[in-house]
Amino acid sequence: MIEIRELTKYYGDAKAVGPLSFSIEKGQVVGLLGLNGAGKTTTLRMLASDLLPTSGTMTVDKVDLVQEPERLRPKIGYLPDRPPLYEEMGVREYLGFAAKLRGVKSSRVDKFVAEAIEQTDLGDRSSEIIGTLSHGFRQRVGIAQAIVHKPTLLLLDEPISGLDPVQIVEMRELVRSLRGEHTTVLSSHILSEISETCDQLIVIRDGEIVAAGSESELTERGSEGTQAVIVLIAGGAEADPSTRLAEATSVLEGIDGVRGVAAIDHPDLDEGTISLKVTADVEVRHAVCRALVAADIDVYGIERPRVLEDVFIELTSKGEVSS
Ligand code: ATP
Repeated sequence: MIEIRELTKYYGDAKAVGPLSFSIEKGQVVGLLGLNGAGKTTTLRMLASDLLPTSGTMTVDKVDLVQEPERLRPKIGYLPDRPPLYEEMGVREYLGFAAKLRGVKSSRVDKFVAEAIEQTDLGDRSSEIIGTLSHGFRQRVGIAQAIVHKPTLLLLDEPISGLDPVQIVEMRELVRSLRGEHTTVLSSHILSEISETCDQLIVIRDGEIVAAGSESELTERGSEGTQAVIVLIAGGAEADPSTRLAEATSVLEGIDGVRGVAAIDHPDLDEGTISLKVTADVEVRHAVCRALVAADIDVYGIERPRVLEDVFIELTSKGEVSS
């Protein structure tokens, strides 16, 4: 449904995006992932027909977005990174205004506004002035203005940014509920916030795609040939953590197949407990447990690291990318 071919954008002499090529199937939710400055906003602005590309083509349902933007604009809904909200307007009034701007016939505006309010669960707030709403509700109004004209392509720039944990869950549910009805492209620099929501992830770095696929495809790719285990080692407050770290490292490095051992931070550590990441060519969890217990080192826990997060960090960091 969406075909992007060799798309580039230069600001002056500086390349911000490209060359980018990818396709998105109708009804899919695609996550554009990258660190700050990777080119997500620039890509979304070009797809929204808000910014002209320097070169390349973009088609939506075979209609060229650069050649015939006026045919496609009514089919596109866009939530920019700073939602274009008028603080002094009421929610319902603003959504009516947005619907008319996008060409919804006057006779249908009220119905379309009511549906957008329902879809974004804004009912209780629909009579309030936008300037009095919390950030989470403003984001909902931002999404409501993007869907009010029932676009086929929905573009959401960092919809989860600045939301609290409860709002993040609600926003994920909202985006999921839009699946199928709209083809959605959303951006984020935090993988865990969107990985569950998206059918496909496109990871970009310096304006270029460094990986694309489903969450499981990216995970497999990242963990290929490597097993990783996180070991938590208990210790009394009186025990010297650096001594235990040295002892445990020496024991773990002696296990067949272990390639590396590194001390890491862990969010759930008790005082005196240390954590180590062990990378190996083979499954080593049993051997790790046995070796530590045999060396009289108390194992507090053993777990798999969050492979996908590691893959994202590897892919978006500078340096060689394995492919
Ligand atoms: P963030 O997550 O920080 O919003 P991003 O991935 O959305 O980042 P972009 O905003 O698309 O990235 O920026 C990509 C590159 O283009 C950056 O180097 C940025 O400084 C540059 N850039 C963006 N907009 C402009 C502009 N209007 N003029 C010049 N350079 C720009």
